[in-house]
Amino acid sequence: MEAEYRGRFAPSPTGPLHAGSLVAALASWLDARAHQGRWLVRIEDVDTPRCVPGAGQTILEQLAQCGLLPDEPPAYQSQRGALYQQALDSLVARGLAYPCGCTRQDIARALAASGQPRERHGELVYPGTCRDGLHGRSARAWRLDTRAPASTNWQDRRLGPQSQDVAREVGDFVLKRADGLWAYQLAVVVDDAAQGITDIVRGEDLADNTARQILLQRALGLPLPRYLHTPLVLGENGEKLSKQNGAQALDTSQPLALLRQAAAVLGLPPGIDADTPQDWLRQAVPLWAVRLKISR
Ligand code: GLU
Repeated sequence: MEAEYRGRFAPSPTGPLHAGSLVAALASWLDARAHQGRWLVRIEDVDTPRCVPGAGQTILEQLAQCGLLPDEPPAYQSQRGALYQQALDSLVARGLAYPCGCTRQDIARALAASGQPRERHGELVYPGTCRDGLHGRSARAWRLDTRAPASTNWQDRRLGPQSQDVAREVGDFVLKRADGLWAYQLAVVVDDAAQGITDIVRGEDLADNTARQILLQRALGLPLPRYLHTPLVLGENGEKLSKQNGAQALDTSQPLALLRQAAAVLGLPPGIDADTPQDWLRQAVPLWAVRLKISR
């Protein structure tokens, strides 16, 4: 028998919900309901310098005003450090993760010396300097050794077959940061497994992280979830709408209008006649099932 469907919405509380994050929330909720599954919310408050006090609570209230209520009490990553430490310890014990003493300048210098300065989304591709030891320096961050598999292939329910050579394109990525904070990649993988998440539905801007997360799931011996990356809402400048580029907080006094806008981004047909968000959502579930070819 297939495992019971468990989905989640996992916002970082760096500000209130905006039109882009509501699309991801709605898609993950609809997908869970269309599969008669459960829907969880996890507040990803690990990157504490970027978190805004109270934003997690605001997001939960905004979701509730749109009729999106989690089936279990929300989890907070800031309370789950012990689980992340256990995962890191197990990777280190098996030689799959290692301490790194490099500063950004060290990495830039090593890349320049190799004649191959490489960057990806503004991040330097780590050249593996500390894989064979710290060279007398002290540990700053902890990284995953990505050398073993060549390419990681995965299937996205909307984007189709995907492939990334993590070692070449990203390098040994950080699991625990030099400032002592847990990296998103480790926290998200540990939590999805600990919460029994079978299906990850989130914005397409996160698709690029998936190969890294699959490498970590394999290294930790965790089950692999299915993935669906949803279309992004673009701002006036054509870039993805995000809290960083000043997306407006949602005015949840008009939840039906917000749900209709989000549904249009997801390609759902218009025309649901409803008086309350709950009624609108109930009618949207079968439309989602048809669009995603989910048999019910
Ligand atoms: N916390 C991440 C964000 O808000 C999303 C994590 C995920 O859905 O995997 O960008």
